Amino acid sequence: MSHLFKAELDGCGCSQAIRYISSLLSAGSIENAWSEATRFVIHATQLDRTFLIANPDRAVSSDEAATLSGFVARRLAGEPITRILGFREFWNLEIEVAPDVLDPRPDSETLIEAALAELGSRKSEEIDLLDLGTGSGALLLAMLSECPRARGIGVDLSAKACELAARNARRNKLSDRAHILRGNWMESLDGRFDLIISNPPYIRAGDIGGLPPEVLNHDPILALNGGGDGLVAYSEIIRSLDKVLKPKGFAVLELGAGQAADVADLALRWGLKVGALHKDLGGIDRAIVLHNPG
Ligand code: GLN
Repeated sequence: MSHLFKAELDGCGCSQAIRYISSLLSAGSIENAWSEATRFVIHATQLDRTFLIANPDRAVSSDEAATLSGFVARRLAGEPITRILGFREFWNLEIEVAPDVLDPRPDSETLIEAALAELGSRKSEEIDLLDLGTGSGALLLAMLSECPRARGIGVDLSAKACELAARNARRNKLSDRAHILRGNWMESLDGRFDLIISNPPYIRAGDIGGLPPEVLNHDPILALNGGGDGLVAYSEIIRSLDKVLKPKGFAVLELGAGQAADVADLALRWGLKVGALHKDLGGIDRAIVLHNPG
C-alpha cells in the first residue's frame, strides 16, 4: 500500500505533504497526527522546522517521498513514532531510543520537574545523582543538563541499555559528568547520593498482555514488568534507599496510575519520609518524593 502514498507525496510542497500525511494518520486514528506528520517530514528532508515554515513549497524529492511513505506505512501498522525515527526529544534533549530500552514518555518529565522543585537552589551545587534503571539515560541526562555542577551515575541491568545511555550522554555533551554502569539496582554501588531518580518497571505481570500494542510490541519487558503486584522493583529500591541516600538526600520515583498509596506505604515501612506527589499532564499522580530522614 505504501507506494500509493509515495506517488501522492513525490514532488508536492512540504506543507502539502504534512497535510496529506496528517490526514492519513488521522484516518488511522492516530492522535497528534499533525505533529507526527511534521516530525516525519522534518526527519525525511533533514530540514529544520524554521526552514520549513519559511519555505512551505519546498518540493519533496522522490527519495524523500519513498522514505515518508515507508514511515507512514509503519506508523499505520502500529509502530510508535520514536521507534520509527530512532530518537525522541525529552526535556529538550535529543535521546536515541533502541529496541532494548523503554521509550521515555513525556509523563516522565514530571520526575524532572519534581526533582528540580525539590532541589531549589541546590541545583547549582556540586551534587551527586543516581538514576536507577537508566535505559536510554533520559532522566539522568535531563537532570545533568539542568544541574551544571552535578555528577551522575546511571545504572542498568541491560548491557545494551548501558551502551545506548553512554552514547546519549556523548550525543548531548554530558559524558564528562555521566557515568553509566551495568548492575542490579544499587547492588554494586558504594557512596551516597543527594538525589536518586528512577522510572522502575511497574506494570503488574498479569496486566502486561493487555497493554496497548504500541507498548507491548515495542517496549522491553524488563522495563515494564513490576511482578505480580507491580511493586517488586519499588520494594527492592526502597528497602535500600537509606543506605545510598545522603542524610539530606531524597528520591524521586515514577508511579504507575493508582500506585501512590502503595508506594508511600512501602516507603513508610522502610523508615523514609514521604514528601510531595506530582501529577502529570493527564492529572495522574506520576512522581513521588521520598526523603531520607537520617
Ligand atoms: N510508561 C510505561 C507504560 O506505558 C510503563 C513504564 C514502566 O513500567 N515504568 O505504561
